[in-house]
Amino acid sequence: MLVLEHHGVTDPGKVRQNNEDSFLVGEGRDETLFVVADGIGGFEAGEVASSIAVDVLKNVGPSESLEDAIREANRRILAAARGDEKLAGMGTTVVAMRFGGTEEEPVTQISHVGDSRAYLLRDGELQPITEDHSLVAELVRSGDLTRAQASEHPQKNLITRALGAEDEVEVDTAVLPVEPGDRLVLCSDGLTDMVPESKMLHLLTSSPEDPEKATRALVVAALEAGGVDNVTVVVVNVKEQEPPTEAPRRGDTQELRTLAPRETYAPRRRVSPQGRSVRSKRAASRRKIGKLGRAVETLIRTVAVVLVLAALASPFYLWGASRYFLGFDNGEVVVYRGLPYAPLGLELNEEVRRTGLNESDVEARFRDAVENHRLYSSEEQADTVVRDLESAEPSQQ
Ligand code: CA
Repeated sequence: MLVLEHHGVTDPGKVRQNNEDSFLVGEGRDETLFVVADGIGGFEAGEVASSIAVDVLKNVGPSESLEDAIREANRRILAAARGDEKLAGMGTTVVAMRFGGTEEEPVTQISHVGDSRAYLLRDGELQPITEDHSLVAELVRSGDLTRAQASEHPQKNLITRALGAEDEVEVDTAVLPVEPGDRLVLCSDGLTDMVPESKMLHLLTSSPEDPEKATRALVVAALEAGGVDNVTVVVVNVKEQEPPTEAPRRGDTQELRTLAPRETYAPRRRVSPQGRSVRSKRAASRRKIGKLGRAVETLIRTVAVVLVLAALASPFYLWGASRYFLGFDNGEVVVYRGLPYAPLGLELNEEVRRTGLNESDVEARFRDAVENHRLYSSEEQADTVVRDLESAEPSQQ
């Protein structure tokens, strides 16, 4: 019989005061359910949104639909946001994974919205199972950005789908067969923005048997790389059950749980037995279009622009309004609120304050963040960067 060995860790990181991530490791009504949610919104709103998502999923029974539960979470977040001005514009990503199938054909179902991810580690390979719903991921899929460019892109955290954004949310689901020895990882972008996949693979394979050690190693790596965001990691090992004579294992989250036989889910997107995600038709056709040549490339670029505009016209724009960035204006460093775009002359940002810092005094290593308008989620975060710029300013002698 297969059992699940698991552990989850979350950490606010080194820059943020609060932790907007929430997670669930097998303590819901369905004990094979694991969730990571990454909240977005000013003040405490992001925390509220991600906790609502986890609370709703906690109450999902083993025979109930995960996708329905995610849609229910979306409605609850919208209702909470409409009932409280302070929560307006809040949202959250979610990636939820649960195990089932039959004894002979065990499977895991992974449903997600946003840019929190699931990975499968099998045969020494780390394979992404989810495709981010983010602006840069769309641009990678359309061929306009390489994966390497995407990971450096100043707008890499702009997501195109989230709970709490619209009345209806589209949930992506993958179902893949699992086997003993598989290890599954759920994480927020606080990990994947900080730690390259090659390093994640290395850390996972150097702690092969212990999900607690693996989660801690991954979180520590994210912190050592800067820890600019909240970071959450859940690791689940699929194992053959240990001999029953062994004493029960101790520890709060690292219990062994039975993999209950269950009917296979009806997935919208299947994953091949090799664990490779079968891409959605939409993404596949987009790749084909890319090969048709120059004329169509122009069309794709237009689509990319439309995507940006759609993101701005939707409630994502509200999130944009709670984001901050720096820029040079007349040789001075200025703090702005909003998004650093001006498509069709639309003003999407406003000046918050002028810092009195001269452009010429900004050290080379800090220029990039100002010139490329790196986005910060709060004014405090932008202020911290300004203080860094000030303390690095050459002393006037
Ligand atoms: Ca995050």
